[in-house]
Amino acid sequence: MNEIPLVNLRRQYDLLKPEIKDAMERVFMTSDFILGEDVTFFESEFADFIGVKYAIGVASGTDALILALKACGVGSFDEVIVPAFTFIATAYAVSSCGARPVLVDVRETDFNMDPEKLADACTPKTKAIIPVHLYGCAAQMDSIRAFANKRNLLVIEDACQAHGARYGQEPAGGMSEAGAFSFYPGKNLGCFGDGGIVTTNDDNLAKKIRTMRNYGQSKKYHHDLVGFNSRLDSLQAAVLRVKLKYLKDWNLNRRKLVDVYHEALKEVAIGLPCAPCFNPGHVYHLFVIRTKWRDDLLNFLLANGIGAAIHYPVPIHLHKAYESLGYKAGDFPVAELLSRQVLSLPIFPEMFHDEILRVVEAVRQFLGD
Ligand SMILES: *Cc1c(COP(=O)(O)O)cnc(C)c1O
Repeated sequence: MNEIPLVNLRRQYDLLKPEIKDAMERVFMTSDFILGEDVTFFESEFADFIGVKYAIGVASGTDALILALKACGVGSFDEVIVPAFTFIATAYAVSSCGARPVLVDVRETDFNMDPEKLADACTPKTKAIIPVHLYGCAAQMDSIRAFANKRNLLVIEDACQAHGARYGQEPAGGMSEAGAFSFYPGKNLGCFGDGGIVTTNDDNLAKKIRTMRNYGQSKKYHHDLVGFNSRLDSLQAAVLRVKLKYLKDWNLNRRKLVDVYHEALKEVAIGLPCAPCFNPGHVYHLFVIRTKWRDDLLNFLLANGIGAAIHYPVPIHLHKAYESLGYKAGDFPVAELLSRQVLSLPIFPEMFHDEILRVVEAVRQFLGD
């Protein structure tokens, strides 16, 4: 039987091949490889898609976070609050600025930062909060922003899994000082390598990040700020311009697939993510279920050719890399519980109906349903 991978990028490429080849050929022919016109166009098209004033293309989602933090003035001796349950890059971005990541636990309902835990994590050194819209589901931005306003803190969104996601009417990446997106190939909008973008409505911040990502230069060989080389390649931007046109439909497809999963699994003894009808802004970067028998179910699915995976098996505080933060097991019980119970089932916009049925069948079979 055919394998069903977690994500099948090849199927998407097959559908877009002529358009993508043309777009890349255009870049080859002009040799406009660095900050070429495709980057400029993509930045404005992406900003329009999200509904923000500015978007600045950079080399990765991690760099997008780092540049946003640095441009906001986060540096040594500062503390930045991040969720204990996220991809490690959220915390690394803080460390890369010389600041200290301070963790808060997440909510069992949506796996996102728990706003009620913010007060305990806040100290006089706290400078910013980074909510993560995990798996494509927006964090509780109203409470987070209310808290940040009260304490005079910056908010920077990690929207690396949330291209097109909404919180009520507001867009992920447009609800704070700045948003960071990743174009890692498997994300809802992915390029053919690494890429990322910062979104913001703030004129000064946009200008600063634009300068910083390109050696801090205002014009060639005139360097005003200590900067970086962190640019989105023109080739990647050309690919992303093609794909961006489909993103809305792809996100809709994901929601339809989630409806199928929900319908087929609603009576099965596993925890399901929020249904599309209850959160119309969710873009389901991942479809993550919860079960006590996670490891056995994972092995069973893999043995049946189904590419399930764990996002993420270890919460931030229990990684060796962060021993120095001084946290211990038990500090963030929800994050720890989730890391033992979450399992991502295959989801990608081009997934066939019979594939999703096979996944569902396998899950039911494992649970003896
Ligand atoms: C993918 C991701 C990142 C990092 O993006 P890269 O492009 O891989 O650097 C950061 N945070 C979250 C939540 C992510 O999923």
